[in-house]
Amino acid sequence: MFTKTVFTKTMLTMVGYCWLCHQNLYFAHHGICHFCWQSLKRLENVCPRCSLPASSRDLPCGRCLKEPPLWQRIIAVTDYAPPLSQLIRRYKYHSTPQLAAVLARLFLLHWLQGYRDGRWSKPDCILGIPLHRQKRWQRGFDQVELIIRPLARWLQCQYQPNLLQRTRATLTQRGLSAAQRKTNLKHAFQLRGDFTDQHVVIFDDVITTGTTLHEATQLLIHAGARSVQAWAICRTL
Ligand SMILES: [Zn+2]
Ligand SMILES: [Zn+2]
Repeated sequence: MFTKTVFTKTMLTMVGYCWLCHQNLYFAHHGICHFCWQSLKRLENVCPRCSLPASSRDLPCGRCLKEPPLWQRIIAVTDYAPPLSQLIRRYKYHSTPQLAAVLARLFLLHWLQGYRDGRWSKPDCILGIPLHRQKRWQRGFDQVELIIRPLARWLQCQYQPNLLQRTRATLTQRGLSAAQRKTNLKHAFQLRGDFTDQHVVIFDDVITTGTTLHEATQLLIHAGARSVQAWAICRTL
């Protein structure tokens, strides 16, 4: 259903070499060569609910059985480790918005594999974890929005930016304790719209502790969402 032609037509990058190994690319818009894609150490033996190492990829791990997260599933391509962690840093901090389509395509390839294997189904809509407007202004673009746009188009899912908004600037979650992270994000988001019976995806470039995801999922459940999944390029293990 999601044919290659849909995304080959919509992805244009200015470079004709692989962002990871710098070899020439046959299809310049792919951004990553076939060899580098095949060599990525993808998340295979992880729990479907929390995406952390587990004995089975089909059954929730002990942590999730004891304390089930609000979301149904986390899908991420790799651990937050090189080479994708470097590519994401380059994308976000070195003003390289053209990497958005490359990262979106990597996620799509990973997702399509699981979709064809019947491991997951297509959601109704995608929401992005929002940047605070001050950060967006500093960076010049919203890294999550630029990845979701092509992804939503290829998958024919609804996407409207700004349905989920940050109401205030928050401290970076890095280095905070679990309790501090919760307090830091309390009432930090606002959700608009009715999600009754919708299967919703929340997208972030990297999922670290899951506290942000928890806050956003809570709002979606209150707004009637039938299920919530989280998608990311990387998951910190
Ligand atoms: Zn390569
Ligand atoms: Zn788990």
